[in-house]
Amino acid sequence: MAVSVGIDLGTTFSAVAYIDPQTKMPKIIPNSEGKQITPSIIQFIDGKPIFGSEAESAFNAGESGCAATFKRSMGRQEVYCTIDNVSYTAEDLSALLLRHLKEDAEAELGDSIQDAVITVPAYFYSPEREATLRAATAAGLKVKKIIDEPNAAAMAYGLNNWRENANILVFDLGGGTFDVTLVRMGHDGNLTTITTRGDHYLGGRDWDDRLENMLIDKFAAETGVDTNGDPAIKSMLRGMTEGVKKKLSSMDNAKVSATIPGFGSASVTVTRQDFEENSADLMDRTGSLCQAVLDEAGLTKGDVTDILLVGGSTRMPQVSEYIQNQFGKKPIAHVNPDEAVALGAAIQTTKENEQYAKLSMQVMPDGKKVTNRKESGLANRAVVQPSKKLAGIGMLSLRETTAHAMGMIAMSTDRTRYINDIIIPANHPRPVRVAKAFSFYTSARNPNDMEIYVLQGDKEAPLDCLIPYKYVVSGIRHIREQKGQTTIKVQYSYDNNGIIHVEARQENERKNLSIRTEPVPEDMSQYGIPIDPELFKAQPEPLNVVMAVDVSGSMSGDPLADAQRAMCNFVQAMDFSYTKVGIVAVSDSSEIVCELTDNESACIWAIQSITCGQTGYGNSAHPFDTIKQMLLREDGRLFALVLADGVWDDQSLAVSAAKDCNAVNIETAAIGFGGADEAFLRDISSNDANAMLVAQSELSSAFGTIAQSLGGGGSARSGADGTVTDVDTWEE
Ligand code: AMP
Repeated sequence: MAVSVGIDLGTTFSAVAYIDPQTKMPKIIPNSEGKQITPSIIQFIDGKPIFGSEAESAFNAGESGCAATFKRSMGRQEVYCTIDNVSYTAEDLSALLLRHLKEDAEAELGDSIQDAVITVPAYFYSPEREATLRAATAAGLKVKKIIDEPNAAAMAYGLNNWRENANILVFDLGGGTFDVTLVRMGHDGNLTTITTRGDHYLGGRDWDDRLENMLIDKFAAETGVDTNGDPAIKSMLRGMTEGVKKKLSSMDNAKVSATIPGFGSASVTVTRQDFEENSADLMDRTGSLCQAVLDEAGLTKGDVTDILLVGGSTRMPQVSEYIQNQFGKKPIAHVNPDEAVALGAAIQTTKENEQYAKLSMQVMPDGKKVTNRKESGLANRAVVQPSKKLAGIGMLSLRETTAHAMGMIAMSTDRTRYINDIIIPANHPRPVRVAKAFSFYTSARNPNDMEIYVLQGDKEAPLDCLIPYKYVVSGIRHIREQKGQTTIKVQYSYDNNGIIHVEARQENERKNLSIRTEPVPEDMSQYGIPIDPELFKAQPEPLNVVMAVDVSGSMSGDPLADAQRAMCNFVQAMDFSYTKVGIVAVSDSSEIVCELTDNESACIWAIQSITCGQTGYGNSAHPFDTIKQMLLREDGRLFALVLADGVWDDQSLAVSAAKDCNAVNIETAAIGFGGADEAFLRDISSNDANAMLVAQSELSSAFGTIAQSLGGGGSARSGADGTVTDVDTWEE
């Protein structure tokens, strides 16, 4: 029967574990050399990859063809190393290592491996997690889940040391990074990550740097040679530092011998005390992050019940001492940091994946979005129960959180700069989904594509965050039936593995839109500088107005002249940079006098050319079919203004044709004078405010009122850019 395994794919060592069918407890699967852990090192000999202690020895001896610490470059598509003319990315190397781990474990178990839970650092961004997933797939593994290393360690620890209401601080100091995670042991084996923080630039390498400088200074003092100015000497000493550092983890001092060009053999001694004093500020940086995690959780140091050490660098004695000083308690000593993570991953192989949750967060007075920490903070003050062994792995369950906030690049509300608009805050339980609606005025001038830049991190400035993805939503349709608004719903999610997904659909049609990722441009500097107000000036919505004038016999003389004057004033109040006006004459028939145009003079000329009775002297027709036909060819706001004198013959037909216009998003307004019927004017108007029965002398001011309501005559105009609102998610 195929087996499921948990794999700790570490920077320096990796380990594989499974659930022992006899004991039903997690157990490390030894590698082909009988060792519990396998160095994460590959040596290529004649293009063939070699693993295990052979590769490790070759690497330590400085032999060529070795690749190590490639985990740090996961998610980067660039070449990590080229060996014998073959180029490898970190993902390629991880795939090779994972295949080796799988084959070793299969040989040991005498069984095939079906699927795997793989661990990654909590701080791993989405592209790094995706790369891990792809590497595993390339290695022939079916990934059941990716879980965070601190959570896996806490699971393994919790199995034998369950203390209900305990707050476990997982202190993970690896080679290049530091991660601190607060996990709570809840009721019934329920393990929940409360907060997690990380520093991508703090790890064993920084301690190596300090030691390297100490060695450079000591050899310079011993030999009188300018060791700092000689790159060859520096590189030689650099090669020795990690070994010396490890020595200092078990001894109070270490003697270091080297041949210094220009001097010969020399020896210096480094004491652990000196080394610790030299790196005390690095320890303080870990302390600050621990404090940040506690602050975020609303807890104090005294609330931390257990401190779990994970990661190779926690073997330095100064780590335990520092923690004891800070927290007043010793870290847990009986957990093997090399094995705990793989054991926890093995436990997770027996679990079902969680279902998507909806976003639940609080918006703070400063606008920051956070998960509701208060509840967990209070719950944490509950009495911690005595430690017990859980009845079995079935008792354990894990709820992970998002290590990084997810946001998108957006304009600030005052449109002066770009900001990180946080969509899902950090430390929110995952998997989680949230959707936003992007609404635009319907206009064929709007592009059919929409670009979205996704961010990870909670800094306000986009360039202070990681920009992992650029998405392009395409095939957006701006159609008339959308009643003036094109709405695109975009759904953002963090899945079970902490990987980001973005989907989009055209809301009114409930049609999924195609969405693709494109490389994030190298130069994103425009998102770090103030927005040029000219560049992003709100583009007014296109406005299309058809004026229909009654030219029946009763308009003869002054009435028509006054109407023409009022219509000309109206035209002159319009801004033709975004407005088109068309003119219709109506009486016994309806006739286009001027097609919609942005040529102001053409409109004026057309209005002045109108004559009484040009379409007959009666009132048997209505203009709405003509208006509809003219306006439906246009984009943007559609408006019809009808001037009526007296009563039309077939009012009900006119009313129903006006309603047809309203149904396709044409607003209608009616100005009447003389014997016009006020109720009829209201019936053919899309709202009561658009219906005006006035005296002939008031025609100009009535037209002026409508002009102003349309943004003419110098009043402010609305913009045509999209508005964004939070909306409900949709199901798969
Ligand atoms: P990890 O990323 O968890 O595999 O940790 C790797 C880091 O642990 C490297 O910087 C190693 O130098 C460091 N490390 C491993 N063993 C020791 C040790 N005995 N003393 C000090 N640092 C160690």
